[in-house]
Amino acid sequence: MRIQDFQRRIEELYLARDSARGLAGTHMWFCEEVGELTRALRRGKREELEGEFADVLAWLATLASISGVDLADAARRKYGRGCPRCAAAPCACA
Ligand SMILES: [Zn+2]
Repeated sequence: MRIQDFQRRIEELYLARDSARGLAGTHMWFCEEVGELTRALRRGKREELEGEFADVLAWLATLASISGVDLADAARRKYGRGCPRCAAAPCACA
């Protein structure tokens, strides 16, 4: 699944509810999910890790949608040509 398709799917599933909750409340949920990912990274269980990465990506996508940002376009613009600072891949920044 491409980033754009994923963002559209999350919009289809949750955008109405997440927009009604608003940016601040939705950002709190995002932070909570980042905390869950942190705990999963510490525990190191593969299945749990995958689920938490997916959750963080979903909350990131919904925050982007509420903010009117297309994640794929933003990522391509910033990282599509290599490191945003030095333009090399891999990054050659000191
Ligand atoms: Zn660099």
